[in-house]
Amino acid sequence: MSNAKSLIVGNWKMNGLRADLKEIEAVADSIQQNSFNGDVVICPPATLAALAVDKTVQSPLKIGGQDCHAKEAGAFTGDISAEKWKDLGAEYVIVGHSERREYYREDDKAVRAKSAAVIRAGLTPIICIGESLEERRAGNTLAVVSEQISGSIPEEAKSSPIAIGYEPIWAIGTGLTPSIEEIAEAHSLIRAELEKLLGTSGSTTPILYGGSMKPSNAKEILAIDDVDGGLVGGASLKSKDFLEIIASF
Ligand code: PEP
Repeated sequence: MSNAKSLIVGNWKMNGLRADLKEIEAVADSIQQNSFNGDVVICPPATLAALAVDKTVQSPLKIGGQDCHAKEAGAFTGDISAEKWKDLGAEYVIVGHSERREYYREDDKAVRAKSAAVIRAGLTPIICIGESLEERRAGNTLAVVSEQISGSIPEEAKSSPIAIGYEPIWAIGTGLTPSIEEIAEAHSLIRAELEKLLGTSGSTTPILYGGSMKPSNAKEILAIDDVDGGLVGGASLKSKDFLEIIASF
């Protein structure tokens, strides 16, 4: 465990209807009763976010966005700015998720601009990085991750909080996970790169592991040095699974 704040984030992606808000309420109730030393965040689809904030405002559970536009406002149909997330009551915004990088062709430069926008709005960006299976097989994991760190983290991160989500793309939604040694190696490289880039704040930046985290593997993964929390997709949709992951930390 590093000196960073502990952080568990549920990414609901494009899942969940109003009827599923009860899962968010169950997480909020539970962490209120069994206080967690750190932050627990759920990033529901934008359609549920305002309702989720209303239902959790009295609890320690935080609501986050899954993406944002780099500009503050304007003619960008369908987009949501970081300032809009702030206005809603969100505290975190995921940026550069591999699904955004792949399906919307977001490169490091775009992710950097979005991260800066989140900081500008006074929120914390959760900046996602991670290698593809081809990159891992070619032995390029560490090089890819280093390049994404220097390309995606904005200057503003030297004086404002950010979090990093390390998510090997091939582990997302597949049930596959890297070995404990592989996760430890990647996280310790990320820590060293953050310290190089951000100085002392690099040693307190939370580094989350993401990719098929579930109740059965969370305890072992979350015990690794420099794993400060998790970015959880599928297993965050049901409060029972998500709470088991939180409890195992
Ligand atoms: C994710 O997409 O951020 C993720 C980690 O998904 P899953 O947990 O379902 O692999």
